[in-house]
Parts: sequence; structure tokens; C-alpha cells
Amino acid sequence: MNITAPRGTKDILPEDTAKWQYLENITRKIFSSYNFKEIRTPLFEATELFQRGIGEATDIVEKEMYTFEDKGGRSITLRPEGTASVVRSFLENKIYGQAQPTKYFYIGSMFRYERPQAGRYREFHQLGVEVLGSDNPAIDAEIIALGLQLLEELGLDNLELHLNSVGCPKCRAEYREKLINYFKPYLEELCSDCQDRYDRNPLRILDCKVDRGKEFMNNAPKIYEELCEECEDDFDQVKEFLDLLDIDYILDANLVRGLDYYTKTAFEVIYKGLGAQDTIFGGGRYDGLAEEVGGRDIPGIGFAMGMERILLTLEEQGIELPIDNSIDLFITTIGEKANKEAFKYLHKLRKAGLKVEMDYLGRSVKSQMKAADRNNANYSIILGEDELEKGVATIRNMTSGEQIEIKLENLVEEMEKRID
Ligand code: ATP
Ligand code: MG
Repeated sequence: MNITAPRGTKDILPEDTAKWQYLENITRKIFSSYNFKEIRTPLFEATELFQRGIGEATDIVEKEMYTFEDKGGRSITLRPEGTASVVRSFLENKIYGQAQPTKYFYIGSMFRYERPQAGRYREFHQLGVEVLGSDNPAIDAEIIALGLQLLEELGLDNLELHLNSVGCPKCRAEYREKLINYFKPYLEELCSDCQDRYDRNPLRILDCKVDRGKEFMNNAPKIYEELCEECEDDFDQVKEFLDLLDIDYILDANLVRGLDYYTKTAFEVIYKGLGAQDTIFGGGRYDGLAEEVGGRDIPGIGFAMGMERILLTLEEQGIELPIDNSIDLFITTIGEKANKEAFKYLHKLRKAGLKVEMDYLGRSVKSQMKAADRNNANYSIILGEDELEKGVATIRNMTSGEQIEIKLENLVEEMEKRID
């Protein structure tokens, strides 16, 4: 047999699952303190949702989607991101009829057909938030603060928040003209992708990884200097709210998303130490998206955070998560009769909520003791004929070596006392 996991995917084995669970648990804890509620949407959707919700002229829709026809002849796509699905669900379930704003978060797999490399996979995981039904700039600052708090509580530092405003369709149309004029004399010097973008989506030239370093890129007009009054006022407020929370940011005019339904605030949080794939999370406002997907004018904002990138950053920064993979008690037995008795205790202890293990392979006492170590047992106990007859046994603290004799009938209580 020589079947391997598909390129760009990987198994998460138990020693790593513990880290994922830790990350998920702390996410749920922090997000709920910001009053975000978890939403779970399908892993696949109608292809059209992503075509409209992400936009035809994007890398995702142009080249990265896992799209197939199902047996019913529908075009289906494995979700490449979360926002479109959340907005679809919000509209479909008429959540807009309830009190607003709506604050949702999600955690799960996303699928993109990309060239696998460090920090870039075909199945990867994002956690993200979406807030629908409010255009208050305080929300923009709130979700940035939320994302940063999560990373800080994990122990990460040296993160950079990059901030921009991409305006609204009104001021962006004028800016677009300026940009086209600006790039005209440099057309020959742009990469081939950007020459293509020049006509279709000139804003995207600004975040081109190939052209990024070129001299003329630095002097391109900056969109945050070309905003209309309303967008400028909103941007000032976002910055003010960030200041209130002592959150530093770097103004970054190259942070753009060229589509009409992306509006105002755009941001990314970067850890430079990650190399080429250095964005941990990114997001922004999409006040025109609900209109595009479902014909309703509902403002929205969100971010998506790459979970693999969080774990890579933890590794890069040498941070060990405080993961407890110990068990409370390992029961070592001698002889058939003790083995059966231990099996009953095992069950009782587990019902009391303790983490307990014993040997199932009929191994020697010495091997069983080794198994206790391998399982990171905090306590161990040996049960043999003697112990059963006298009704007593010795609990051993595996760290301190301290031993204490107890009545066997009190084993559950005695163990409960030792575990908090
Ligand atoms: P990039 O410019 O790196 O392709 P993107 O704009 O496609 O990023 P988003 O769609 O904004 O990224 O996704 C949000 C986050 O999800 C990224 O910042 C990153 O942390 C993570 N991410 C995106 N694509 C992948 C992938 N293929 N593998 C792992 N993580 C990813
Ligand atoms: Mg991408």
C-alpha cells in the first residue's frame, strides 16, 4: 500500500492535536469575552457564492478553488474562506431581523489549490470573526484588538499591525484614475501579472509581491490620502479607537483589495520572522458584500487568521504552550485476580472524572512501571494478591517519590483529594 495524504494536506497527530485544542480553547474563551458567538457553516457551498462573494478577479477564484460537479449536476466548491459563507447564512436565516450587530466567529478547515510551501497548504485552518449590521469604526478597532489579544495571550510578540483604508466605491473610482495615470509610464516595467491587473484591477498592483521593491512603487499615490470626507472621518475614528487601546499601527498604503464591496478599513498583522508567508491575520470592512451576495445593504467587517501560521510563529518564537498531557493514575497489577479488581477500580475512577490507565498486555511489573512513566502518570499504585487481601495499597507520587498507604476502599476519594 502506498497511498499518502494528498499534496498540501497533513495529518494532525495527537501530540500536535493538543496544541490545536489549546489554541481552539483559548480562542473560544477570549472570543466569548468579546461576546462573539460561534457559527458553523458547510464545508462546501454553491460555487457562485464564492465567485460573487470573493470576486472573479482574485487569485482565489481565478486559480485556487476546489470546484467540482456533484452527482446532481450542481457546481460545488470546497470553501476557500469563511466570510462569504457567513454572510450567506446571515441572509438566508434572516438574522438581520434580530437585534444588531451580529458578532460571529468560526474555526475550521479551508481549501485552496496553491503551491504548497512553508505556511501555505491546500487544506489549512482559519479562525475568524465577522461583525454584521454595524458600520461603527469602534467595531473595526474592537476586532483588531481581539485578534491581537489572542496572539498576545499565546505569548507572541514582535507583531506588526498594518493599517489602511481603501475608501468607498466613490472615492476609490477617482483614486483608480490617479493610479492608472501614475503607472502608465511604468507599464513596461511591471511584471506580466500586473500588466494584466493594470486594466482589470489596478489597485492590486500595489500589493504585488514581484513589483513590491521597485522604486516607482514607493511614490505611487496613497489611497489613504485620497479618501472622501466620510471615509476619512471613519479612518480617523478607527485610529483614535486604536490609540485609546494603546495599539500601535503602521500606515500601509499597499494593503489593498481591489473589489468594490471591500470598503474603508483594511488591516494585516504580520510577523516578519515567518519569511515569505508572514501574515498571521488579515481583514477589513466589506460594506458592499451583503448587497452583492443577497441584495441587502448590510455593513460588515471581519478578519481571518491562519492557524498553521500561529503555530509556526509560536515555534519561531520558541514558545511552548502549557499543555498537560499527564494522566492522574496508572494502576500496575500483579496476577489475574488483581488485574480484574483493578479493572473495576479503573472504571470507578474514570466515572469520578479521573484520568486513569492500566496495562492490557499482561506485562511484567517493571514494564508496567515504564508504561506509567510513558503515560506521564502523576501517581501510580500497585495491586497484587497481598494488597487485595489486606485491603490496603500504596499510592506513589511519581514526581516526589512520596508514598502513602491507603485503604483500597477509599481509593477514589484519596485520588480525588490529590487532583484538583
Ligand atoms: P496570501 O497573500 O498569503 O496568499 P491571502 O490574502 O490569500 O494571503 P487571506 O485570504 O486573507 O490570505 O487569509 C487569511 C489568513 O489565512 C492569511 O493571512 C494566512 O494566515 C492564512 N492563509 C491563507 N492561505 C493559506 C494557505 N494556503 N495555507 C495556510 N494558511 C493560509
Ligand atoms: Mg492567497
